[in-house]
Amino acid sequence: MNALAATNRNFRLASKLLGIDSKLAKSLLIPFREVECTIPKDDGSLATYVGFRIQHDNSRGPMKGGIRYHPQVETDEVNALAQLMTWKAAVANIPYGGAKGGIGCDPSELTVSELERLTRVFTQKIHDLIGIQIDVPAPDMGTGPQTMAWILDEYSKFHGHSPAIVTGKPIDLGGSLGRDAATGRGVLFATEALLNQHGKTISGQRFVIQGFGNVGSWAAKLISEKGGKVVAVSDITGGIKNSEGLNIPSLLKHSKEHRGVRGFQGGDPIDPNSILLQDCDVLIPAALGGVINRENANEIKAKFVVEAANHPTDPEADEILKKKGVVILPDILANSGGVTVSYFEWVQNIQGFMWDEEKVNKELKTYMTKGFKDVKEMCKTHDCDLRMGAFTLAVNRVARATLLRVNKKRNKQREMAATTSGSAGNRIPELRKDAISNRWVIFSPARAKRPSEFKSNSPAVSDQQLHQRCPFCIGNEHQCAPEIFRFPPDNPDWTLRLIQNLYPALSRDLPSPAPARLANNLTGSVLDGFGFHDVIIETPVHSVQLLDLSPHDVAQVFLAHIKRIHQLATNDSIKYVQVFKNHGASAGASMTHSHSQMIALPVIPPNVSARLGNMKDYFEKTGKCCICEIQQEDLLIDTSDNFFSLVPYAATFPFEIWIVPRHHSAHFHELDAEKAIDLGRLLKLMLRKMSLQLNNPPFNYMIHTSPLHSNASELAYTHWFIQIVPQLTLTAGFEIATGCHINPVFPEDAAKVLREVNVPESG
Ligand SMILES: [Zn+2]
Ligand SMILES: [Zn+2]
Repeated sequence: MNALAATNRNFRLASKLLGIDSKLAKSLLIPFREVECTIPKDDGSLATYVGFRIQHDNSRGPMKGGIRYHPQVETDEVNALAQLMTWKAAVANIPYGGAKGGIGCDPSELTVSELERLTRVFTQKIHDLIGIQIDVPAPDMGTGPQTMAWILDEYSKFHGHSPAIVTGKPIDLGGSLGRDAATGRGVLFATEALLNQHGKTISGQRFVIQGFGNVGSWAAKLISEKGGKVVAVSDITGGIKNSEGLNIPSLLKHSKEHRGVRGFQGGDPIDPNSILLQDCDVLIPAALGGVINRENANEIKAKFVVEAANHPTDPEADEILKKKGVVILPDILANSGGVTVSYFEWVQNIQGFMWDEEKVNKELKTYMTKGFKDVKEMCKTHDCDLRMGAFTLAVNRVARATLLRVNKKRNKQREMAATTSGSAGNRIPELRKDAISNRWVIFSPARAKRPSEFKSNSPAVSDQQLHQRCPFCIGNEHQCAPEIFRFPPDNPDWTLRLIQNLYPALSRDLPSPAPARLANNLTGSVLDGFGFHDVIIETPVHSVQLLDLSPHDVAQVFLAHIKRIHQLATNDSIKYVQVFKNHGASAGASMTHSHSQMIALPVIPPNVSARLGNMKDYFEKTGKCCICEIQQEDLLIDTSDNFFSLVPYAATFPFEIWIVPRHHSAHFHELDAEKAIDLGRLLKLMLRKMSLQLNNPPFNYMIHTSPLHSNASELAYTHWFIQIVPQLTLTAGFEIATGCHINPVFPEDAAKVLREVNVPESG
């Protein structure tokens, strides 16, 4: 298993233990950026190298990670390393996310001046990607303090003197004291915490260290100073063993002089490949990844493995060692000393104040010890080993930061909305569209008063109008067009009547139409105006409005619509039935007596076919119905057993409300009697909230459903809903010209206002 697969696996396991939802888990995965760097070589020829920077996550702070110069850039490996930095910084509780970068080149084949030119060109290409509060590089394989100095110098040409742009700098340019020893010293502190927890100390334990580079040699030196016995050490030149304990200062001297441990006289030479299997208490792999695997895991004799290298233990070996009772201190905790002191370096640069080495080491000990303690806590909470404890700690911290930032953003928007008033509104306009209408809407709060001060200045029905009598009133049936049915049937004491419209938009008396034909002028189409236009008188009493009816009586209105749709559906020429209500003269009502209307059409009207097309597109892209996915906490107004009401994300009109069935349903006329009462209750509540908050405005409601003869695939992505639109703004030239509406109230503000309207009991 490669490094990325292993890291992803640990991340997934940790997410599962924490119960983090998959959406968030997905948002924590990685982008990869490549840049081309061309430089003149010393011989005058041009050479091109590929540089890259991977930025994994910045929810806890600027991203941090090494820049390596190496001929092979394994995308998966650097991805894993960037990700590992995120988790490492989170375990250490330092405010960074993870990154990794570098150039695909062999630094041993380049001269110093070529390396400098390459580093400067690379910096020019990425100077906008990195930044003191964005992404702070550090040395890695094939790079060092000099490389960082070049990056600092080149970056400062663009952005002014910026020592905090890189860490691992030479001390003279703002590097931190103690940085060189930091990873090795961190290994010591972490090992100490682990041993203490098992009732042991460094002194008296026998250590084996694989790798005698920066980390291994510092760890060996510091451990031996603490009384630990380093019994075997290896590097690429060879291995050396002394069961009485190696003299580390002499070995360091030898290694420096001979560029390796090979030939050291203070012990017996061993095969470096056998180093991991040497008898000891604590094994410290401080060289490469994947060295402990299923081939050798069973033969490891140590009781503790401290992962000073990244990924030294592969997941199979992890399982084997766990069964043997070997305790593994995972890399993201054990080797986090380096990034921790990098953080101290950055802090010192920002403060413009240099710490002495004692302070650096003391702070490092505090961080490493606290990190170990926090990991142990997670192990207890989730009953898991140290590796999973470290991963759950890290993933939890990153996820929490991510969620807090999202909430913070929303809260900030709300605060801003609350202070928005008149032209002094400080919220910027926004364009939004949703998947359903796929039309841009302009939200421009600066044009409006506070959302809560929005009122209709022409209430739908005056008091005087409420006390008239009209043809719809009970007893005046003879003044109306013919009746189709009434509830209860044949009862002179009716509660609801469905009649023909006296002035129908379409004629029911024409023969069913032939298919559309070309118009005489040849640029249009024409069809006989066949169709049905009916009226539902919702109450026998003139002064009673829809919102005064009981939920049961509102349900009767829906059931009348549904009964009529079933009748109309028997006519093959009818393709779509639109149910709507106009309330108040400016909303188009010619009668004040409460009524709704239905028009049955021989064609599918343009808004409906556009909506169907959009919903189909969304379904084809995502496999989901876009209305099933529409719920969003800050847009929600209220809920019932079977429905919820919300202000849509890209509401065309201020205080527009949708009522949506919770469960997928393509046709309004599938609604049953019980759900109709539930819907009646929610519609009534919405109308009352609207009336109280907006001063009884004229309004329209429309039932958006699917065409009568939908095929099975259409049924999968169409989902009916009710749209309620209070008449508060005018449709004028701009809207007519562009189809783009200007809405002065942000949907989340409208939803909040409507949520908070207090509707008195009764009625
Ligand atoms: Zn009337
Ligand atoms: Zn649906």
